[in-house]
Amino acid sequence: MRTVEDHRSTIAALFPRMPVAVVPLPQAQGLVLAEDVAAVTALPPFDNSAMDGYAVRAADVSTVPITLPVADDIPAGRTSVAPLEPGTAQRIMTGALLPPGADAIVPVEHTDARTDRVTIDTTPTPGAHIRSTGEDIAAGDVALRSGTVLFPAQLGLAAAIGHAGLPVYRRPVVVVLSTGSELVEPGTALLPGQIYESNTALLCAAIEDAGAHARGVHFVPDDAAEFLASVERETAEADLLITSGGVSAGAYEVVKDAFADLGTVYFGKVAMQPGGPQGWGRVGDVPVITLPGNPVSAFVSFEVFVRPALRAAMGHPRPERPSHMARLAADVGSPAGKRQFLRGHFADGEVSQVGGPGSHLLAHLARANCLVVIPEETEKMDSGDEVEVWLLEGATP
Ligand code: AMP
Ligand code: MG
Repeated sequence: MRTVEDHRSTIAALFPRMPVAVVPLPQAQGLVLAEDVAAVTALPPFDNSAMDGYAVRAADVSTVPITLPVADDIPAGRTSVAPLEPGTAQRIMTGALLPPGADAIVPVEHTDARTDRVTIDTTPTPGAHIRSTGEDIAAGDVALRSGTVLFPAQLGLAAAIGHAGLPVYRRPVVVVLSTGSELVEPGTALLPGQIYESNTALLCAAIEDAGAHARGVHFVPDDAAEFLASVERETAEADLLITSGGVSAGAYEVVKDAFADLGTVYFGKVAMQPGGPQGWGRVGDVPVITLPGNPVSAFVSFEVFVRPALRAAMGHPRPERPSHMARLAADVGSPAGKRQFLRGHFADGEVSQVGGPGSHLLAHLARANCLVVIPEETEKMDSGDEVEVWLLEGATP
């Protein structure tokens, strides 16, 4: 049997780092910057007012109250302004270009707010309420370092320094192909012996959540020819193919049977539960990962093998789920020689098991907020023991 670590390395080695592409900012959320990005312009790009008020020479307002003529009115967006003559004021709005010669802004609250001449009742200090060129970042400085994960603040900064797009490791396109003659499209009628197909929904969401682009294709029955035709059609423009089902030890294991003659897809058992039967390889140039069909097995396999590999390919500095230690709320048992990933609920440093080990227990999976990792050599853990948990989406430590 393969160890979890061996199989993780095998899966990680299937994908190279994704190519770099310049992606428009609205599509770059969560992606990883592939090059340093310098500030083309300084921020702020010009000296401007931080308040609605009056631009003055501070020395002209040393005794208050004082009344000055208002020589001009400067809204935000004016691209040229007249110099401020001594003994005058100019009305100015937040973000407007500072007139040459002005060295302070008096907020409108400290004036009578008139537009012909203004009476000011507070003496400003030189520099008051002025945002100076480059005080946030100087032109030419590195604004965003290669390897930065792009979130709202980073995307806002990129726009502020004039970039419409950023060079990132592009999202892989991942095709999900489920197999099973018992499967029926949700939203249609079910006969005895049939179940609704759920792995496409589950895996596509997991792929998108990992930052990649998922394409769920219509699932196929347990028919090797139909499966292979689907594989050929769907891998034409894919970076990765994930299949579900058809890889265990029974008869009618369509994925195993269909790929057997190809010689480029391999099957093996990993020492873990759930998710023992796994397959990997290539069809043409396209990497293939064949996941077991039980929904919980497919989910856990994705978490353990596929998610970290996808995120590493996209350059993520931390491809793994955040892991924490938690106190077990009750005793748990685990099979010898296998790493077990139980579904758990984690809160306030304590974790309780959700449902049993059965890999069909999808409702229990949906109530869990973490995976509980029981090492291979451990067959029993006691209430109060410290155990590793991987927090899933929406979980807070
Ligand atoms: P298999 O790996 O094909 O032997 O499937 C194992 C179990 O998972 C069986 O009970 C299947 O009915 C179920 N299963 C397989 N694929 C899916 C799927 N796409 N959606 C829901 N259940 C599935
Ligand atoms: Mg099947």
